[in-house]
Amino acid sequence: MSSIPNNLQAVHAQIIAAARSAVRDPNTVILLAVSKTFGADAVIEAAQAGQRAFGENYVQEAVDKIAELRRDRPDLLLEWHFIGPIQSNKTRQIAENFDWVHTIEREKIAHRLAEQRPAHLAPLNVCLQVNISGESTKSGVTPEELLPLAQAVAAMPRLTLRGLMAIPEPAATFEQQRVPFRQLYQLYETLRAQGLPLDTLSMGMSADMSAAIAEGATIVRVGTAIFGKRT
Ligand SMILES: *Cc1c(COP(=O)(O)O)cnc(C)c1O
Repeated sequence: MSSIPNNLQAVHAQIIAAARSAVRDPNTVILLAVSKTFGADAVIEAAQAGQRAFGENYVQEAVDKIAELRRDRPDLLLEWHFIGPIQSNKTRQIAENFDWVHTIEREKIAHRLAEQRPAHLAPLNVCLQVNISGESTKSGVTPEELLPLAQAVAAMPRLTLRGLMAIPEPAATFEQQRVPFRQLYQLYETLRAQGLPLDTLSMGMSADMSAAIAEGATIVRVGTAIFGKRT
């Protein structure tokens, strides 16, 4: 039967299998449960099955959900990741409510998040979004723009630059899925060789998480395979 706990178990099994065939320790892959469009009840169900990190795309929906959960279930120690496009007028809510942001693509946005991150919270963990497949998705920096942005963000107080994120175009086969993930891994290694202490590659979703893990993903962002189809 399909239920959130069963789905989580199946996704964990897939992560373990993909890690083993890549000769990787499965514990080096973190599952981010993408709960966008699903309510606090679904988050609670996943949390009770052991899930800790949750991803959200829409600021208002997320902030309402986070507030509801902090009020009603302060016992659940949840970690919140923002994975959607960021508008300037939403940075304060993101800085005040999230633990991670995966979708930094402009220095100006990073600067606002750094200024608005409350002093009583730990630094905001951030990843830079890279436009790895080129055309159809407009989000993310080009590989050429990446190094200067990474150096600027790494120098900002109240932010910790953790790594890179990408959303490649859908691909038909496993081997085709691997290509953009390998490119992101290579960019990650290039930045590390420049002295940036990165430890995170946020890549892979329900349809391509195994390919992403084969290429070094440390966070896979999975929605549909856990919560079901979004309407
Ligand atoms: C919605 C979303 C996901 C989850 O996608 P699924 O295909 O439902 O697993 C992952 N990453 C980002 C950036 C998303 O917007």
